[in-house]
Amino acid sequence: MPPFRACPRPLALNRRTALLGTLGLLALPAGPAGATAARPAHPPHPPDWPRTLQVPGGVARLSLGPAATRPVAQARQGNTDVPVLVVGDAIEWTAVVGIPLAAVPGDAHISVVQADGGGARQVPYTVAPKQYQEQHLKVSPRTVDLSPEDQARYERERDHQAQVMATFSEQPAGGALQSLRMQVPVPGRRSSSFGLRRVFNGQARNPHSGMDIAAATGTPIVAPLPGKVIDVGDYFFNGGTVWLDHGQGLLSMYCHLSSMDVRVGDVLKAGEAFCKVGATGRVTGPHLHWGVMLNRAMVDPALFVPA
Ligand code: ZN
Repeated sequence: MPPFRACPRPLALNRRTALLGTLGLLALPAGPAGATAARPAHPPHPPDWPRTLQVPGGVARLSLGPAATRPVAQARQGNTDVPVLVVGDAIEWTAVVGIPLAAVPGDAHISVVQADGGGARQVPYTVAPKQYQEQHLKVSPRTVDLSPEDQARYERERDHQAQVMATFSEQPAGGALQSLRMQVPVPGRRSSSFGLRRVFNGQARNPHSGMDIAAATGTPIVAPLPGKVIDVGDYFFNGGTVWLDHGQGLLSMYCHLSSMDVRVGDVLKAGEAFCKVGATGRVTGPHLHWGVMLNRAMVDPALFVPA
């Protein structure tokens, strides 16, 4: 490729590759002065995806600056420190932080430890308020007022799902995370119902934490990114469900499926079909419920796909 054509990305990558070697040789001190001196003439590219939206249920992209190896970042959620996804290279690392729907608007931060030494530092960000609308749904009464048996089943499944959601693999099965831009897993009308405060048969329940895509039962669903199957099950509310692990705490879930054509441990390429749309679990009709999770926070899938 001729230099300085309007194709900044490969050019920037080449420049970075060259600089990575330099950085390794220099064994930069942790201080920002050395780091600034080593920066390329053009600013490095932060990741383009997902889009930033610093509200409950959104995503923050926080610059962590240069470092020879990937920094370790953590977000405090409840009483737990949860590892955070970090992408980039020695020139520029970026933390991609999921903001829980239950987050209180205002000041927030993650903690960052450089893998090559130095103490923990805090990287602050701000969560803006967002008022999600209320949605009233009429469903089968047995899926709102649970029998003792159904309640016990639900609690077992909730505990199992919590274990699935805690999955954190350093490297995804398909190799290092490249782009976090996802392809839409099934064609169809996409709801903008993420975050809606839901009222089932007049009773308030958890907010809607995913995107609904209307499609006929049996429509194939494809993996939006390379990933590994980490759960396949049939659950009381979610019906036929598959979870994929895309690496570093980026997970995706597919619910109400009519067919699940994979097993735990299977590795999928982006665009590979692995299950089919259905109407199982608590639904009002066939559709895919698609969830995307970062650092154990369900975030708006719309931020990961082209509009
Ligand atoms: Zn849904």
